Amino acid sequence: MIASVLPTYSRAPMTFVKGEGSWLIEADGRRFLDLGAGIAVNALGHAHPALVKALADQAGALWHTSNLYHIPQQQILADKLVDATFADTVFFTNSGTEACELAVKMARKYWYDKGQEDRVEIITFDGSFHGRSSAGIAAAGSEKMTKGFGPLLGGFTHLTFGDHDALTAAASNKTAAIMVEPVQGEGGIRPLPDQCLKGLRDLCDEHGILLILDEVQCGVGRTGKLFAHEWAGVEPDIMMVAKGIGGGFPLGAVLATEDAASGMTAGTHGSTYGGNPLGCAVGCAVLDEINTPEFLAEVNRKSGLLRQKLEGLIASNPDVFESVRGAGMMMGVKCKVTNIDVVNAGYDADVLTVPAADNVIRLLPALTITDEEIGEAVARLDQAAKAVAKA
Ligand SMILES: *Cc1c(COP(=O)(O)O)cnc(C)c1O
Repeated sequence: MIASVLPTYSRAPMTFVKGEGSWLIEADGRRFLDLGAGIAVNALGHAHPALVKALADQAGALWHTSNLYHIPQQQILADKLVDATFADTVFFTNSGTEACELAVKMARKYWYDKGQEDRVEIITFDGSFHGRSSAGIAAAGSEKMTKGFGPLLGGFTHLTFGDHDALTAAASNKTAAIMVEPVQGEGGIRPLPDQCLKGLRDLCDEHGILLILDEVQCGVGRTGKLFAHEWAGVEPDIMMVAKGIGGGFPLGAVLATEDAASGMTAGTHGSTYGGNPLGCAVGCAVLDEINTPEFLAEVNRKSGLLRQKLEGLIASNPDVFESVRGAGMMMGVKCKVTNIDVVNAGYDADVLTVPAADNVIRLLPALTITDEEIGEAVARLDQAAKAVAKA
């Protein structure tokens, strides 16, 4: 008999009833050090007082009105994002894949309105992940995500990550947009080198192509800048955001320049919940905490500590681990053994990591993790690695 919850996930055997900062707690009091943070969602950890207050205050005032009316919290959050980024305008969604939907629609509408209605092609890269909607799976294109789901949304060209020649050959005046994650998350924490992102921007400028960056996982302070593309010093035309921006409340956004967004006039897109008062009140609180030079400097400092300790972990477990990569609090450790075995051994050692493609375990801790917790986390990973090596 089918489970009452549609069985699309294979879940680990833990059930958490409470969260405190970087810790998740089961009903019997067992405490896990959480290096997954709800897949880079709980950017400020669990039950951060500023977020709890923002949500509770808004919950007592007004939950939902629909986008038929003005929503002040949405206006404030949009202004904050516009002030902090390349963008001139913001649309709020409830998730990353909805941000992908709009990014695709926006890019195509842009060219349609310019009289180039057949300029619909969007270039994406293997190993990418843009969510599970029809546009999201078509964009990523992997067999694992698309097989069995019938005719896919057309117009995507999938290239090998890092294949410059293929990219140069594929980009043309038929290309509406290039969509890429500055750091691939699900793909195994594969950063796009700064030089490549600069090269992509140049290529886009050469052909007038729109550059869409998917910062759903790597954005909102995760890499030590507010957005990951800032490291390369280039700006996109359109950017997808979600995960960390809501700190655990379902919230996403598409940020765009005035030019890129020019086709999206009244009636061309909408969302019942998108940008609702609860989500935006929390989003404002998240951004106020993260978008300060002091907070981001701390993320970078602690990132150095984490990386140094991970190098030590690899050195003392050379049969289990191969290398570390990533930036900020977005680290991937490539394994020599099966990554799932390390993740499972981590559960036994009360530490939570997230598997990714390319046989990597992902560490995406709360940006607020302390030095002491970083030390404890790596000690527990060491314990897990020793257990895997022995098995
Ligand atoms: C998680 C993720 C998405 C999809 O977000 P959902 O909120 O699950 O729809 C899209 N892009 C990237 C890079 C992601 O990591």
